Amino acid sequence: MGGPEIEKLIGLLARLPGMGPRSARRAALKMLQQPEARMLPLAGAIADAARAVKPCSQCGNLDSRDPCVICTDAHRDQATICVVEGVGDLWALERAAVYRGLYHVLGGTLSALAGVGPEDLNVASLLARVAEGTVSEVILALGATVDGAATAHWLTDRLKPLGVVVTRVAQGVPIGGALEILDEGTLATALRARRPS
Ligand SMILES: [Zn+2]
Repeated sequence: MGGPEIEKLIGLLARLPGMGPRSARRAALKMLQQPEARMLPLAGAIADAARAVKPCSQCGNLDSRDPCVICTDAHRDQATICVVEGVGDLWALERAAVYRGLYHVLGGTLSALAGVGPEDLNVASLLARVAEGTVSEVILALGATVDGAATAHWLTDRLKPLGVVVTRVAQGVPIGGALEILDEGTLATALRARRPS
């Protein structure tokens, strides 16, 4: 079609989640037709974000500030930590605006099959935060998968001896439901209807 620049652009776009070769071609074409209005601002935003955004050293959220905007928000409930698998789950809960405590991003779930152990996740930092003594409740908002349930069980066994209440969100989806794909009403219900873990 065009030069190697176009091929490379389409190839990189096609690797993004939700994109295939067809949608990558459409997006590339749209941008190439308006380089000043669409393409350069996007390129700038990508470069800025890549340089500035890092995982928060406390909770694992992605932000250009460390500690992140959530960890440093004094209006949030400092006594509650909601444990999620990924930043996408944190974003979903924030979009739903139903939770006003702090977070901890695990970075996945334990998985014997995939060989993911506690040392591969942000588990030690969670236990250290809770051991500091300012937290009274840990809400486990993990996916309703086999690994999610096993991880919740494993964490409960280690959190309870630290003297905190451990709860689990009730999920309105029967199987494999990552928080990211839940709508805001379901998320709100799941959080309100949490139960002891
Ligand atoms: Zn943070």
